[in-house]
Amino acid sequence: MSEPDLLQLRGISRHFGRFKALDEVSLTVKAGSRHAIIGPNGAGKSTLFSLISGTSAATAGSILVNGRDVTRLPVSRRVGLGVAATFQHSSLFLRETVLENVLLAVLRQASTRPGLWRPVNARRAAIDRARTFLEQVGLLARHDVSAAALSHGERRQLEVAVALATEPRLLLLDEPAAGMSPAETARLTELIVALPTDVTVLLIEHDLDLVFELADTVTVMHLGRHLTTGLPDEVRASAEVQTAYLGTMEVTS
Ligand code: ADP
Ligand code: MG
Repeated sequence: MSEPDLLQLRGISRHFGRFKALDEVSLTVKAGSRHAIIGPNGAGKSTLFSLISGTSAATAGSILVNGRDVTRLPVSRRVGLGVAATFQHSSLFLRETVLENVLLAVLRQASTRPGLWRPVNARRAAIDRARTFLEQVGLLARHDVSAAALSHGERRQLEVAVALATEPRLLLLDEPAAGMSPAETARLTELIVALPTDVTVLLIEHDLDLVFELADTVTVMHLGRHLTTGLPDEVRASAEVQTAYLGTMEVTS
């Protein structure tokens, strides 16, 4: 039996005047998949993510999460429906500790579900929960340092922990390996592989080795349009894809 569609994009566009940053993109993401979006700079990948997370509005088309139309919903309501994003530009509280960063997200999430914990041990329970997410991303040993003291790679790990604290069904990762050392990239890959499959992952990534190691489905975008979606091997072999990338990015074979 095939998996249901967790995310459906139906002809979504984001036009700025006459400029089409995103133009009539349709795409489905299966529940549980590790789906990568690749494409040269300016292809519209980050714009696509902003429409899914709700940080910007589609000028046409519709977006369904679990069959529910979220096109007009604000970010907070989409988070409530399980859409979580980490952004290319970090949104951490740098002066707070690693644990505090995740704790804030856990408490925010708990506040959307009143009655989940008894007040007397609420903080203890929240701390335990925050620690679980830190363990999941491999940052527990760093829980008491300030976020500002983390390496670039560790910050990305922390962002994933913060996103996990919102109990996402769909996790959007925009170039998580950007600026990472090879060791940090390897660590991040392990982290994503180890995520439970009830978290569907949609990731934008320039590191094609990482893409072909992780992804079960690859979408290629070019100039604001959907070029192709397929199995990693099909996409890698596609002449159309090679042409789109020529001179901008290397597709290794
Ligand atoms: P990618 O993430 O694939 O590199 P983006 O989605 O960031 O591409 O951008 C796609 C195109 O849309 C780029 O040409 C970019 O300059 C343009 N763009 C993005 N945001 C805006 C905006 N707010 N106003 C005008 N143009 C924008
Ligand atoms: Mg981008």
